[in-house]
Amino acid sequence: MESKELNEAISIVDQAIECPSCGLVQKYPEIKHGELIACQRCGLELFRHPVSKQWAVPFAFSLSSLILYVMMVSFPLLSVNIYGRTNSLGILDGSIEFMHQDLGIVGLLIALVVVVFPIITISLMLTILHFSRLKKLPSFFPKLLQWYKLLRPWSMIEVYILGIFVAYTKLVGMAYVEIDYALYSMVLLMISMGITDACTDFAGLWGRCAIKETMIFHYKQVDIAPHHFDQLPENNHLASCECCSLVFATNTVIAEEGQIGVCPRCGKKIHKRKTNSLNRSLALLFAAFIFYIPANLYPIMSMTMMGKTSNHRIFGGVVELWQSQMVPLALLVFVASIAVPVLKISGIGVMIGASLMRSKKWLTMRSKLFRVITFIGRWSMIDVFMISILIALIHFDALATVHAHVGILMFAAVVVITIFAADVFDPRLMWDYAGMNSSENDQKSKN
Ligand SMILES: [Zn+2]
Ligand SMILES: [Zn+2]
Repeated sequence: MESKELNEAISIVDQAIECPSCGLVQKYPEIKHGELIACQRCGLELFRHPVSKQWAVPFAFSLSSLILYVMMVSFPLLSVNIYGRTNSLGILDGSIEFMHQDLGIVGLLIALVVVVFPIITISLMLTILHFSRLKKLPSFFPKLLQWYKLLRPWSMIEVYILGIFVAYTKLVGMAYVEIDYALYSMVLLMISMGITDACTDFAGLWGRCAIKETMIFHYKQVDIAPHHFDQLPENNHLASCECCSLVFATNTVIAEEGQIGVCPRCGKKIHKRKTNSLNRSLALLFAAFIFYIPANLYPIMSMTMMGKTSNHRIFGGVVELWQSQMVPLALLVFVASIAVPVLKISGIGVMIGASLMRSKKWLTMRSKLFRVITFIGRWSMIDVFMISILIALIHFDALATVHAHVGILMFAAVVVITIFAADVFDPRLMWDYAGMNSSENDQKSKN
C-alpha cells in the first residue's frame, strides 16, 4: 500500500524494524529461537531470539548475580604484603582513596560504574523477570526495560577485572600479592550478568508491552493502530522509536529534525534522527581533544619506593611494561589508553566530516568502524581502575606509597566525554547524507 493511500495521519507498521546503523526500514520474517535477523543492507545484527525459551534460566542467573554481587562488596579483592606490612583492597577503597587525594570526582565515577550501576541493573533485571511472569504487564514495565537499556553499558565489572589484572602485574614486582574471595565472585558475576543478557528475550518482552490506542502526534492526540503493509512506504514517511523500536508510517514527509510525537508503547519522544547530532558530537569531540592533551602531559600517578619518587605518565606506563618483558600487557594498555582515545576522537571526526561532504565511500565500513568505536570506548577505563587499585593498596608511608595526579582526572574526562560523543552521533546520518535513504535508493534496496 502506498503511503498516500493511508487514511490516518500516522499508523504503526507491523513486522518492521529500522536498522539503527544505516536507517533502512525493513520487514522481517518470523524467526525461531536461537536465530537472528541481520540488516539487509549493512549486515548489523538487528535482533536475536535467545537460545533458551525458559523464564527460569535468566532468573536463576540474575539471582546468582545478586548473591555474587553481595559477596563482591563484602570481602576484599586483593591483599598485598610488603616487608611484613599488609593491606587489603575492598571494592570501594579506591574511590575513598581518590577522595582523600582531592580527586573525589574520579572516585565517584568509579563507585558509580563498579558499585552503583551494577546493583541497579541486577535489581532491574530481577524486577523485569518477576513482572514478566504476569499475564498482563504493569504499566511501568516499559520504563524498567528503558532504564535497563540505558544503564547496562555503564556497569563496567569486566573492565574493572582487566584493571585488576594490569595492577596485579605492577604489584608482583614490589610486594607479595594474594587474590581474595571477592575477586573470584567478581569474575563469576561478570559471566553471570553476560549469560542473563544472552538468555533474556528483550524483543519478546517489548512485543508484550501494551500499545495505547491514541498517541501524541505533532502535539495533537490522534488514534493509532497497527497496519499491515504489503510494501513499505518511502523512507521519508517512516520513523522508529529509538527506545522500543516500534516503526511508524505517516502520510506526510517526516523532517530530519524536530519531534514527531510520543511513542504509544514506551512513552519516549520520537525523532526521525537524533536531535542536532553532528553539532553536539563535534562539540564533545572538541572537549575530549582539549582534555586529551593535559591527560598525556601531566603525570597520572607517582610512586614512592624507599624514599625515591618517580612520576608516571600514560605513555611511560606502556614503555615500562614493554621493558619488563610484559609485551602482551604493554600492547593491551597501549591499545586501551592511547590507541582507543585517538581512534575515537579521529574516527568520529572523520565520520562527521564524511557525512557533511555527503561521501558515499565505504559506508558499510564506516558503520562497522562506528560500532567498534562504541564497543571499545569503555575499555579505556582500565588505566583509571588500575590507579584506583594501586592507590588503595600501596600506602605504606616512606616504604612505598602511590599517589594519583591530575593527569588521571583529565584522562577519565576524555573517556567519559568520548562515550557521550559516540552516543549522540547518529550513524544513520552518514547514509542519509550520502543519499542512500532517499526514495530511489530506498526502492533499489527493497527490490
Ligand atoms: Zn543497516
Ligand atoms: Zn517506544
